[in-house]
Amino acid sequence: MRYPKIKTLPSWYPMFDAITVYPIGIFIKSECRDDGRLLRHENVHWVQQTQLGAVRFYSLYLYHWIRCGFSYSANPFEKEAAEWENAISSMRISTWRNYI
Ligand SMILES: [Zn+2]
Repeated sequence: MRYPKIKTLPSWYPMFDAITVYPIGIFIKSECRDDGRLLRHENVHWVQQTQLGAVRFYSLYLYHWIRCGFSYSANPFEKEAAEWENAISSMRISTWRNYI
């Protein structure tokens, strides 16, 4: 799998802080480039799009968005992204002794 290129989304863009467009990359506002949670979130969308292709991803994304009553959080693509964006944050190292 190719890793995404990180590109700048203009600050004046009104709709999102970031958007992923496979195979071009992740577009993110410059003020959000250090937001690890957002980058993990967009990387999940990158993986989703590598598996489905961008056209199929956005077609299904639109389908689920409508089917879920235009709810962002009910969309299965967003649910999956939310689960994975939090996975690293909730990861705990049980003990440092595991590594020696
Ligand atoms: Zn998302």
